[in-house]
Amino acid sequence: MLLESLMLASWLTLTVYTVWYLFKAKTYQPLTIEDLALTWQFHKTQTGCTASRLSNLTTRKNEVIGFKCDCGYEFQQKRLVTQNVPKPQLPLRNFQNSAPEQGEKTQ
Ligand SMILES: [Zn+2]
Repeated sequence: MLLESLMLASWLTLTVYTVWYLFKAKTYQPLTIEDLALTWQFHKTQTGCTASRLSNLTTRKNEVIGFKCDCGYEFQQKRLVTQNVPKPQLPLRNFQNSAPEQGEKTQ
């Protein structure tokens, strides 16, 4: 009985952790200065913002993860841990995925 309870408890912990990892865990994606400048330019173009200053938002590891514009606009680069970086759509993809997958849907 005790063993079963322990197993149940550990499975429960594992499940909760997995769900948390998949849906809650977020990491900050560091930005390069070029990214920052581009994003700020984009914000200014989009909103007609005329601010000439911005302050960087940094993490404890001194990585730039966003900025705060003088107008009050704040940008933070957030990404889910499980979210894949979008791959560029190149014709090469066809060669890489040329092997037929099992259980492939037929239309
Ligand atoms: Zn602004």
